[in-house]
Amino acid sequence: MAEPVYAPDHLDKVINLAKRRGFIFPSAEIYGGFRSTYDYGPLGVNMLRNVKNAWWSAMVQRRQDVVGLDAAILSPPAIWAASGHLETFTDPLVDCKKCHERWREDKIDGVCPQCGSREFTEARAFNLMFKTQAGPVEGDGATAYLRPETAQGMFTNFANVLQTTRKKPPFGIAQIGKSFRNEITPGNFVFRTREFEQMEMEYFVPPAEAEEWYHYWIATRFAWYLDLGIPEDFLRQHVHAKEDLSHYSRGTTDVEFFYPWGWDELEGIANRGDYDLTQHSTHSGVRLEYFDQASGERYTPYVIEPAAGATRAMMAFLLAAYHEDEVGGETRALLRLDWRLAPYQVAVLPLSKKPELEGLATRVVDLLGAEYVVDTDVTQSIGKRYRRQDEVGTPYCVTVDFDSLEDDAVTVRDRDTTDQVRVPLAGLLTYLRDQTGRA
Ligand code: ATP
Repeated sequence: MAEPVYAPDHLDKVINLAKRRGFIFPSAEIYGGFRSTYDYGPLGVNMLRNVKNAWWSAMVQRRQDVVGLDAAILSPPAIWAASGHLETFTDPLVDCKKCHERWREDKIDGVCPQCGSREFTEARAFNLMFKTQAGPVEGDGATAYLRPETAQGMFTNFANVLQTTRKKPPFGIAQIGKSFRNEITPGNFVFRTREFEQMEMEYFVPPAEAEEWYHYWIATRFAWYLDLGIPEDFLRQHVHAKEDLSHYSRGTTDVEFFYPWGWDELEGIANRGDYDLTQHSTHSGVRLEYFDQASGERYTPYVIEPAAGATRAMMAFLLAAYHEDEVGGETRALLRLDWRLAPYQVAVLPLSKKPELEGLATRVVDLLGAEYVVDTDVTQSIGKRYRRQDEVGTPYCVTVDFDSLEDDAVTVRDRDTTDQVRVPLAGLLTYLRDQTGRA
């Protein structure tokens, strides 16, 4: 399949729109900014929540074999000693001898991206975990880490979940939450940041079934992005070569997305074997196994892990959705977001500020508000208001005009086609349910 083609300024346009319309702001801007941290604004927080809800719905709520968890971010060194992060969660760091900028050696192909020099210091292993201190007294017992991934919470609570839910393999534990990595070279907007959100699931299976479930989860996760509207040509699978596998992995496949700079990771699916449960059993002295009463068999389950980034996924959805087309002889920018991800799903627009129209518009907002996220806008011409909604991806605009007062009907406009249809108020909810495929 041919690779998609981006306009040269596509990324800049998306970053600009994200800031101008309240999706993503550079953090601490009034103090000159804070490198590579971002705040999610009123529209961004809606969209990010929709991404997470779509994941939670598909991965937890609509499955009988997966349960949720929300583990602590602050964690003791013991967890990270067992997981291997204290020893191996490092990137090779080099300094350019000419401009003194720091880089990840594995990302720069021997040439300084800033000054072009090929002379670097020897690579040093730099641990990416943020280390801090819990409580007022410094010392070894006070050391704490901000988790660099959510996964370990699922392993350390494996026995708790087994005891409290009566689940048996194959079953999963899922979590969405913040993770922190002191990345040497963050960048490309929210693609790589030091603080980000992950959506991870650990799926515990009988060892003999691991391979089968590994392939099941690769296919399932790939399909999730397609279902939420990422076009097929923006996605591919990348199977890691044996020699590139992490120490815990028996097989890893990435779902890759075609970013403006090329193919790069969106999500990783790994067969972690029994590495994690075995490590935590050894280090904690607590047996983390499954005892199958029916067969009398005791074993350490293998783990299949689909690990996605919520903030990175939101960026991919924005990049794929941003389009420009021509409407009425003018260029318009629009986000062709799936309705489930759009910050607002319906905009209710009274044609004028006349109290009768605003009153009817309020009734429409109340009617739709129970099922959809609704925005209202009364300022400027209707054409300008449509453009504003197109630009933030609102799939439907419902216009309340003077005829509505007579015929109890409204005009529904479709974002992508700009087609308009007249719909009776009594049938509006049914019409939108049909359009969005909501049962
Ligand atoms: P990389 O090799 O690019 O540093 P990784 O392979 O270490 O990433 P994982 O540990 O597999 O990444 O993390 C799972 C997912 O979490 C990634 O696919 C990505 O979506 C997200 N993620 C990881 N690091 C970051 C980050 N610094 N900023 C934003 N998202 C991230």
